[in-house]
Amino acid sequence: MAEVDIVIRGGTLVDGTGSAPRKADVAIDKGVIVGVGEISAKGREEIDASGLLVTPGWVDIHTHYDGQATWDERMTPSSIHGTTTVVMGNCGVGFAPVRKTDHDTLIRLMEGVEDIPGAALHEGLSWNWESFGEYLDQLESRPRDIDVAAQIPHGALRVYVMGERGANREPATDAEIAEMKALVREAIKAGALGFSTTRTMVHRTADGDLTPTVGAADAEMVAIAEGLKEAGTGVLQWVSDFKEIDHEFNLITHLVELSGRPLSFSMVQADVWPDQWRDLTSRLDAAAAKGLPIKAQVQGRPVGLMLGLQGSVHPFVTRPSYAAIAHLPLAERVAKMLEPAFREKLLSEAPEAGHPFVNSLAGAYHKMFDLGNPPNYEPAPEKSIGARARASGQNPDEIVYDILTANGGTGFLFFPLHNYTDFNLDNTLTMMRNPNTLFGLSDGGAHVGAICDVSVPTYMLTHWCRDRSRGERLDLPFVIKSQTHDTAQAMGLLDRGLIAPGYKADVNVIDFEHLQLRPPHMVYDLPSGARRLMQEADGYVVTIASGEVIYRNGEPTGALPGKLVRGAKSAPAAA
Ligand SMILES: [Zn+2]
Repeated sequence: MAEVDIVIRGGTLVDGTGSAPRKADVAIDKGVIVGVGEISAKGREEIDASGLLVTPGWVDIHTHYDGQATWDERMTPSSIHGTTTVVMGNCGVGFAPVRKTDHDTLIRLMEGVEDIPGAALHEGLSWNWESFGEYLDQLESRPRDIDVAAQIPHGALRVYVMGERGANREPATDAEIAEMKALVREAIKAGALGFSTTRTMVHRTADGDLTPTVGAADAEMVAIAEGLKEAGTGVLQWVSDFKEIDHEFNLITHLVELSGRPLSFSMVQADVWPDQWRDLTSRLDAAAAKGLPIKAQVQGRPVGLMLGLQGSVHPFVTRPSYAAIAHLPLAERVAKMLEPAFREKLLSEAPEAGHPFVNSLAGAYHKMFDLGNPPNYEPAPEKSIGARARASGQNPDEIVYDILTANGGTGFLFFPLHNYTDFNLDNTLTMMRNPNTLFGLSDGGAHVGAICDVSVPTYMLTHWCRDRSRGERLDLPFVIKSQTHDTAQAMGLLDRGLIAPGYKADVNVIDFEHLQLRPPHMVYDLPSGARRLMQEADGYVVTIASGEVIYRNGEPTGALPGKLVRGAKSAPAAA
């Protein structure tokens, strides 16, 4: 080993095992880590990491790049934030399998559930596939910056097998159930990492309908789990309101027992069910005690709505005066809103009957914050718009109006939708520390007009390991392990997530002291010029994927070593 591709020299290694940081060089050759410790070989590229952290690349198991991955070479914003593997096809939505007649149905489903503009999907998706395997072939044929892995989504599957009856949530016949089972088995064999479904009333199509999979019979779910069992690999991903918590938890327990496959579900603290997560956590612990691989995906930040004039929602969208100018380009809208007479009129209006969620924002000033720069995702209650209004004697509407119209209308208010019932992240901390949870829920590629939680892997380091002042922090080795080794293991990707000889060379070199999130902002670069929230970070000195430098100081190098990950991967022999 006289010469290797890259040597990262003199860094502080946090290797993903959870063990303490240590000084070590890392040698990389042909896409693989070939040495850790004191490296005498020379690198064709030498990276000076003195004073910097060296970590595995992040493995984000909950994204929705199913469309973007077919038209875009770069899986941004994820790849900007040190993520080197994304798993998509979550929450039961995606684009395969599909018949020619159902393209619109799947677009309306994705547009509604994940807030990805339909126009972008219409223009961006080539639809040159029908089966899930053909969709994977399409993904494989494109170069990209980081690795992507896909799961077969129940919504697409049900529409494929049942047509309109599937979309309308009618019960599947025995023959249809058998076909779904066979197709899941086939998709896993073709390289799907798992199967995903949604059973929540919150997820809606763009037409406001419930998703095809809500209310799917237990027999259907059992058959699909049997399909996984027959495939002998793959995971189950689940979203549910857990309203009938006994029945639902018994069902997932049964599916895991029957299939022998791991299952993870989304868990947040919702204001309407503030203690449900505690109930779910104790059930998780009981399942783990029985040796069942059931975990909850949790997020170390509020699920944060960004309210702004450029986004999907803000508190004034149902005021008649605003509705009259909503179609105007941003600059014209802001100019109008800055006219004193217009401002006065709009602020005097009551919201029109409209989207109940949007109207509920109007009364929720106690949960609305100026996000600020650097963005503050754990603001104290006294920083809320409501508290500020009380302190200053102003009408909260006026404060909101002024924030929304400042800086050319580009600003955002932060509205912590979930995980903020108690106005701090202490409960989130408890969730993250539970051994039966996984870091997840970034939703990368989705909710592009209202949420930008794809930056959470960066936030886990800045906030939880360095900046948090309102409570306990987390140890850096724990956080690194949780978003590399643990997430990779949970998906059966045993070839990555650690810095050790034989592992895939996915590596971040980070200036931890200066690591910093920038505020989210809107860009208009989706197909058809549709919008999406974007967020950058400073402090990622180098990101390496498959042994190639893909980012240097926040700038893409143009290297596209990313691949479709087909199916689970075994651990390297060297390990
Ligand atoms: Zn999701």
